[in-house]
Amino acid sequence: MPEKNNKLEQIIALAKRRGFVYPSSEIYGGFAAVYDFGPYGTELAKNIKNYWWKVMVQSRQDIVGLDSAIFMSPKIWEASGHVSGFSDPLVECKKCHGRLRADALLEEIGVFADEKMSLEEIQVVFKENQDQIKCSYCGSTNFTDLKKFNLLVQSNLGNFTSDIDKNPVYLRGETCQGIYVNYKNVLDTSRVQIPFGIAQIGKAFRNEITARQFIFRTREFEQMEMQYFVPPNIMESEYDKLKELRWKFYLEIGISENNLRWHEHENLVFYAKKAFDIEYNFPFGFKELEGLHARGDWDLSRHSEFSGQDLSYTDPKTQKKFIPHVIEASAGVGRTFLALLSEAYKEEDLGEGETRTVLKLDKKMSPIKIAVFPLLKNKPELVEKAKEIFNILKEKYMCEFDDSGNIGKRYRRQDEIGTPYCLTVDFETLEKGEVTVRDRDTMKQEKILEKDILNYFSQNL
Ligand code: ATP
Repeated sequence: MPEKNNKLEQIIALAKRRGFVYPSSEIYGGFAAVYDFGPYGTELAKNIKNYWWKVMVQSRQDIVGLDSAIFMSPKIWEASGHVSGFSDPLVECKKCHGRLRADALLEEIGVFADEKMSLEEIQVVFKENQDQIKCSYCGSTNFTDLKKFNLLVQSNLGNFTSDIDKNPVYLRGETCQGIYVNYKNVLDTSRVQIPFGIAQIGKAFRNEITARQFIFRTREFEQMEMQYFVPPNIMESEYDKLKELRWKFYLEIGISENNLRWHEHENLVFYAKKAFDIEYNFPFGFKELEGLHARGDWDLSRHSEFSGQDLSYTDPKTQKKFIPHVIEASAGVGRTFLALLSEAYKEEDLGEGETRTVLKLDKKMSPIKIAVFPLLKNKPELVEKAKEIFNILKEKYMCEFDDSGNIGKRYRRQDEIGTPYCLTVDFETLEKGEVTVRDRDTMKQEKILEKDILNYFSQNL
């Protein structure tokens, strides 16, 4: 079994070797804190997003989807408080000039600087502990004073003058603002009534100061967010239901419960009513996977104020007018992806000096569901039959056809990408109409009649 501290390296190596994740712009030497998903990574990410959508939208009458633009009016980011307050405390190492997050350095030595602390307060705590704090790049303990560093990523969209700094247009820092500003559109044009939710999956961008730990913290990432609009009196009960639903989601995609925990925020920002994170036990420890926040009426009130539009709601039964409260569930695709790889990655000792690496992914999440092999590449009748079966299965499942290398190597390759079933066509298929199906987890092989294949997979997948 790999040691915990090198498990991340093993996962990164597998992700690269098997086409899950590549460093961005790799042939140009890479581009810090940005990653590309390869063929299998794209499938895994799609499976995560599709399942999230199924749970959060498809199976709910009270939640609808949205796909808002990445570029939005810069006023939105003023109203949301991001222009003035979306920042991290930055510190620079005087020796190597590495830039680091002061709160992350403090956390490494067990001192916590929470979101409510001012820069000056964090500076004081930082100074008090400075002899214990080491630069993550060179180990020096000599740092500059702290500075606020805004995480919004600016663009030059629509700026045809040199005034870019005065009127920047940002790449969105979170997907939920697109939901708040479309709340009234959705309410007016669909059949939802309060309480209802709007869900969105999309890219967000943050100028993260220290982006380490692979795809855990990147500068471009995808969020899966659902904002639920409620009258204040049912906020608590709806929040509890959402917590239950989101916890269950992780169990359903194959995360084991002992690798999950709740983290309650102690010092809430003034408008927040409740804030919990779901944390996963990554190879580098328990860290945030998803945030669940009860945000009061802050978001819609601010957008009402800044846009001049009335975003209040009138209850059709009581005629009572109020600004809906928001509870949100905000998860990252990349972090869920890394949690699944961490959970599924196994190195197994098969005895007699043989080992295998296998991704024991939940079948719903596996990039490829069935790999179809002809036993021998140079027997056209086997290849033809295997292609025929592949063509039938691919209509229903994400399948892969592979006729290269010996069968053992083909099994190992599929094990490494987490394919639950390999189906082999051999001479008995031609003679008796039987194929061999091999199970990823038990490695057991069984004979299935060709006519029963679809039935077999619809029962097992
Ligand atoms: P952290 O404290 O780790 O920076 P956060 O509290 O700022 O995260 P939120 O703003 O609540 O994160 O975003 C919701 C979710 O989006 C997070 O739980 C995480 O899954 C994901 N996320 C946020 N920032 C990043 C990032 N830089 N890279 C990858 N995923 C991210």
